[in-house]
Amino acid sequence: MEDKIRPYGPGKFNTILDSYVYQVSLDGGCDDEIGSVDEGGWFGMMRNGRTIFRDHDPLLETLNEAEQELLTTCAGVIIEEDSQGCVYVTYFTADAELDVAWDALQPDKTDYSCNQCQALMINGVYCHETGCPNTHKLKVDGEWVTPETDESGGE
Ligand SMILES: [Zn+2]
Repeated sequence: MEDKIRPYGPGKFNTILDSYVYQVSLDGGCDDEIGSVDEGGWFGMMRNGRTIFRDHDPLLETLNEAEQELLTTCAGVIIEEDSQGCVYVTYFTADAELDVAWDALQPDKTDYSCNQCQALMINGVYCHETGCPNTHKLKVDGEWVTPETDESGGE
C-alpha cells in the first residue's frame, strides 16, 4: 500500500494535509502570525510538526501514512492565506529554514529606527535622543503614533 500526499481537489487548498494543518491553526492558534486576509494576505507559523500532529489526535485518522510522515517530521510550517482565501502551506525540514523564511516575511521586524533621531532599542525599549518628538510615541507597523490616552475611566 503506497500512500501519497493527496490533492485536495478543487477548492482553497492544494492538498488534504494542507487543509488539516489549516484547521489545526484555526483550532489551536499559531505560534506566530502576521498580516491579515483583508490586508492582502495572512501568514501563520507553527513550530514542530510532531506537536501539531499530536495535539489533534481526533483528526489523525483522516491522514494517510505519507501525510502523517510529512507532518510529523517537519520542523514547522508556514501557512499563507491570500486575499482570495486560498491557502498555501509550506513544510520546513529544519528550524533554521523556518526562521529564515519567517523573518523574510516581515522586513520591518528588525527595523528599530526612529525617523526623527538615532534611536536605539535597548531591552525592547526605545531610547530616543533628547528632544525627539517621537519620545512618547509608539511605533506601530512602522508608523509613529501617539498612544491613546485612556479616558474610559473605571468608575
Ligand atoms: Zn527618536
